[in-house]
Amino acid sequence: MFGVGNPHAEIMFVGEAPGHDEDIKGEPFVGRAGQLLNKVLAALGLKREDVYIANILKCRPPNNRDPQPEEAETCEPYLVHQIKLIKPKIICCLGRIAAQRLLQTNMSLGQMRERWFNFHDTLLTVTYHPAAVLRSPAYKRPLWEDMQKVMEKLKEMRGEPLS
Ligand code: URA
Repeated sequence: MFGVGNPHAEIMFVGEAPGHDEDIKGEPFVGRAGQLLNKVLAALGLKREDVYIANILKCRPPNNRDPQPEEAETCEPYLVHQIKLIKPKIICCLGRIAAQRLLQTNMSLGQMRERWFNFHDTLLTVTYHPAAVLRSPAYKRPLWEDMQKVMEKLKEMRGEPLS
């Protein structure tokens, strides 16, 4: 499963791996976590078609286990290629696993959140995975705040006045 969205997107979301619903539909983030992502996007005034959505892994790991390092290594060149083709202004990792993989770090989500990193000359940030927010509603506000920061950064990069 390659990815979905606008090939000229300014924001690219990167999740971990397809789940059961994604496997059936052949599209990233179409299950419950995806529906929450759609809601957050809508609240920001964005549609799924405005952004690009991909995963580190292009195939579903059996029984939803975490991606194994060699699986992520095998899939990562495809993601890097996607990033080079789409040239997003901002990559927003959804969850610790995607960010740790791309940044080659063991930092916790708390250490990585609210920061900007450089990934192949593209700004990268990380927020809570929507599935984590579904499990722990207390993460809803920080997810929302992170997304607003992404929009502010985008405005800044476009040279638009900040709100
Ligand atoms: N979780 C992910 O990380 N990616 C998906 O596509 C769906 C759920």
